[in-house]
Amino acid sequence: SKPSPFLQPRSKTAPNDLAIISLSKDHFQQVTLRQSAGAIDGYAEGITLNTRFGSFPHSTLLDIPWGSQVRASNVDTGSRGRKRRRGEAEGEGTPSSLADDENDSPAPAAAAAAAAAAAPVKQATTAASGFIYVLRPTPELWTSSLPHRTQVVYTPDYSYILQRIRARPGTRIIEAGAGSGSFTHASARAVYDGYPAPSESASRGKVFSFEFHEPRYQKMQEEIRDHGLEGIVHISHRDVYQDGFLIDGQSPKVSAIFLDLPAPWRALHHLSRRKTLRGGSLDEGHEGWMSPLDPEQSVYICTFSPCIEQVTRTVTELRTLGWTDIDMVEIAHKRFNVMRDRAGPSTAPANVAQAMEKLKGDLKRTQEFHKAQKAAAANEMDVDGATLSAECRDSGRSEAPAWSKGQIVHRPENEFKTHTSYLVFAILPREWDEAAEAAAAAKWPCGK
Ligand code: SAM
Repeated sequence: SKPSPFLQPRSKTAPNDLAIISLSKDHFQQVTLRQSAGAIDGYAEGITLNTRFGSFPHSTLLDIPWGSQVRASNVDTGSRGRKRRRGEAEGEGTPSSLADDENDSPAPAAAAAAAAAAAPVKQATTAASGFIYVLRPTPELWTSSLPHRTQVVYTPDYSYILQRIRARPGTRIIEAGAGSGSFTHASARAVYDGYPAPSESASRGKVFSFEFHEPRYQKMQEEIRDHGLEGIVHISHRDVYQDGFLIDGQSPKVSAIFLDLPAPWRALHHLSRRKTLRGGSLDEGHEGWMSPLDPEQSVYICTFSPCIEQVTRTVTELRTLGWTDIDMVEIAHKRFNVMRDRAGPSTAPANVAQAMEKLKGDLKRTQEFHKAQKAAAANEMDVDGATLSAECRDSGRSEAPAWSKGQIVHRPENEFKTHTSYLVFAILPREWDEAAEAAAAAKWPCGK
């Protein structure tokens, strides 16, 4: 099977790679990089990504280190450029709702439209404007850019959930429902234990994912294949309330469970060590019933529900079925921007000598900045091959006194996208009987 860009990234971009394009700090767009031999769809440069920061022929995004900054190109837009000049809408990849862009093109869409309107009719070349970063896919970036088919679990929640349910390389997880695959990607990376030599059978860690909505199931299947996750994620099309969690009649032997379902309590009777009837009474006489749980490990569960009524019903069912250590958590994620602020009286120099020293320091840093900019233009790379900003390169070397850099301040930033839900956690201890005791005693003989 092909290597997964999420798990076995190469150092440079290549044709047919999935890339996440960063338009600004919080705006991402996925794109599959294509090589084209000639003009395509009116573009002399071949396949081109159009954004409000300019046009980027895929040829300029290929064979470069992941993380590179790419400047917009002057592209021959052919018929498209002429269309735009007639006042028609821009093509794909031109998000109109980017409010807090950090790109360096003030109102670039308006500027591009004005430039296009002013251009003579025969000139089919558009003005270059801003830049983008070409990032390699990670579960976090996938979550920020994936096509939403449902509500999704966001990074602040899934990072906490995965550590609470003890997801680590080799862990086998049940996940239902798969929805848009946000949690699926994060959990696949957490359990993958095929490093450093990837192969389909290398990973004992697996994600057994279930989805009963057929189009979503099919889309997930496609994404798992396209992202090279087939050896790790096994998706089933199933109503788990009705039909439980076995795989081809066999136990997946999981030790971790994540349920993002409208009624998680309706699935819990399938996640027991013994056959149970709903309502909790044990039916030990039932022949042929199989548990999807690993008999030799404690099992950790998390359910994700937006309403407290759902939590109450889930907790009641968990208690009835013998789960322990039940608790509930709500993640209230807040992001802070921490920086140095030169403004304000507390950072002002106390006398003329200090003021002069500060001025000299500012001048020196400005000169260093421009020097570093020139070096950056010559494409200095960091150890990973990514281009470093001049400021970043200089940050460790500056010898300016701390006071001249201003005081440290922090400000809350706009909220990270997060779908607030209540997380219910519980543990089902492994069963212990005479046989297990004897086996343990044989394995670890006490006092001998
Ligand atoms: N956790 C997912 C993510 O991060 O992208 C989102 C899950 S979405 C909120 C809930 C999904 O559960 C929906 O896609 C729905 O079709 C599926 N679902 C609901 N009831 C189900 C059932 N009984 N069996 C299997 N899937 C079910």
